[in-house]
Amino acid sequence: MKYRVLGKTELKVSAIGFGGIAIQRVDSNQAAEIVNAALDKGINFFDTARGYTDSEVKLGKALKTRRSEAIIATKSMNRTKAGMAKDIRISLDNMGTDYIDLYQLHNVKDYQTLKQVLAPDGALEALIEAKEAGLVRHIGITGHIKDVLKEALANKQLETVQFPFNPVETEGAKELLELAEKARMGVIIMKPLAGGAFSQAESSLKFILSHQVSTVIPGMDSVEQVNINAAVASGDITLAAREKTLLDEEVGRLGNTFCRRCEYCQPCPEGVNIPAMFLLEGYYDRYNLQQWARERYWAMDVKAEACQDCGECEERCPYDLPIREMLSRVGEKLDKQQ
Ligand code: SF4
Ligand code: SF4
Repeated sequence: MKYRVLGKTELKVSAIGFGGIAIQRVDSNQAAEIVNAALDKGINFFDTARGYTDSEVKLGKALKTRRSEAIIATKSMNRTKAGMAKDIRISLDNMGTDYIDLYQLHNVKDYQTLKQVLAPDGALEALIEAKEAGLVRHIGITGHIKDVLKEALANKQLETVQFPFNPVETEGAKELLELAEKARMGVIIMKPLAGGAFSQAESSLKFILSHQVSTVIPGMDSVEQVNINAAVASGDITLAAREKTLLDEEVGRLGNTFCRRCEYCQPCPEGVNIPAMFLLEGYYDRYNLQQWARERYWAMDVKAEACQDCGECEERCPYDLPIREMLSRVGEKLDKQQ
């Protein structure tokens, strides 16, 4: 396993980290087997979230006897100081640990949310206090909208940034990577396989690792996946000509159907949260989290069916995605009650 420095935290993290979202779909014993296999392969960076149902609990249980070998990152979508302070306590309890290596502001999705978390009485204040108390060692931020994250880089309290980057989701990444390097921010790459859309998983990981990133965190729900992913970071990351050709072909195929969550299509006059619909569809199709995705879909006030076919979103989508057609597919899949 190769290790890289996580920016100014100076932690040495495995180039392939462990995305904790996937262990939601296995039981506790299987999760422990997978996590231990990852540790045995030299993977030392484990990322989870308050929002990933029982992932924190399973991860904590799996790491119980090997806590010192692991760098644990988690995150919360709480935006207020009081809410974040409460979530930090819950994360510590869930994982049965007395410190968390990295606690992140989760999915800071727009400028308004960024302003809120950084403002007095916002979530960042709770993280700073937890750091002073030794409960949290480092603070980071995660999100999908690169322009928002670029603005966040100016905040000196933040030590890491996490965002999606893969061969089909490259927009804005180059500039963000350069800025992060200048600011000495640790860079954590989520969704390296485009939410499971890539069949060329190893090539996609090699592509990402050839950039200035600290660690890449594919979700893993089997020991076999751990072995495949760990091998990529242990070997040569140069893409062979054939791998590059296959990857380019796949990018071409996905390019016409893959939502990059850039949000240019928003707002929809009917209030449809278009990228959220496609995100849930990805969880349904590719992460094998059907029930989880449906429950989140049912909880939404405005569903795909609210689309009135006005076409405004399609005019604004820079990737010319057939949004209306895609939304109707989302509705068919996710609305089913069973
Ligand atoms: S086509 Fe549908 S989803 Fe798109 S903006 Fe119009 S109402 Fe909203
Ligand atoms: S549908 Fe198009 S414009 Fe909307 S978030 Fe996805 S890629 Fe961006």
